[in-house]
Amino acid sequence: MRCLLLSDIHSNLEAFEAVLADAGPVDETWCLGDVVGYGPDPNACVEKLRSLPHLCIAGNHDWATLGKLDLREFNLDAREANLWNRKQLTPDNLAYLEALPEVLVREPFTLVHGSPRRPIWEYIVYTATAQANFYYFDTPFCLVGHTHTPVIFRLTDKKGREGCDTLPLPVNGPLSLGPERLIINPGSVGQPRDGNPQASYAILDTETLVLEFRRVPYPVEKTQAKMIEYDLPLRLAVRLGYGW
Ligand code: ZN
Repeated sequence: MRCLLLSDIHSNLEAFEAVLADAGPVDETWCLGDVVGYGPDPNACVEKLRSLPHLCIAGNHDWATLGKLDLREFNLDAREANLWNRKQLTPDNLAYLEALPEVLVREPFTLVHGSPRRPIWEYIVYTATAQANFYYFDTPFCLVGHTHTPVIFRLTDKKGREGCDTLPLPVNGPLSLGPERLIINPGSVGQPRDGNPQASYAILDTETLVLEFRRVPYPVEKTQAKMIEYDLPLRLAVRLGYGW
């Protein structure tokens, strides 16, 4: 099965549409949470995702928008954007987000937003955190989002001693998943934070286990103009142009 692997759309319809167009035909879309929050098009993004054959799990911004997390845990800009997103969402789209699970398993993959240890909140930024998390899932591979940075962590075994490192990312080239256990983050569609403003995602063949990381440009200024028109925090609009 050819699968579109994405995360952290964050109500950014232009980025989401660019990814769908660039990905071409896929059998299924796997979304690793945070469909809403930050951006200007929560309903359109939820509805576009719902129109596709897909799987989706819950992210911290989805929960915050639903009122399932304390908004004081978020910075001021994120909080304001979450409250605005909550006001826009239709009851039907809120009910869809409410029903999202925290964890899904599709052998040989476990899908979570943050980490297998704490699916909603934990950020896997460093190899030490990644290494600890390999004990919290049973499948060979775990797919995560949340940090908005594409990365692959690998569990290593050097002379019987376990460790963890990162693999160099093959952009626009395939990577065959081997026998080693991996935690894979496709990056963020709607708010990349690795200094590259282009939308980030991956294509995964679930039979051959070949993975391809991709970046695609989208009309950032169109998203920014909507955010300014709707009076969303200016910093959130500006950051899209820089990819941070
Ligand atoms: Zn996010």
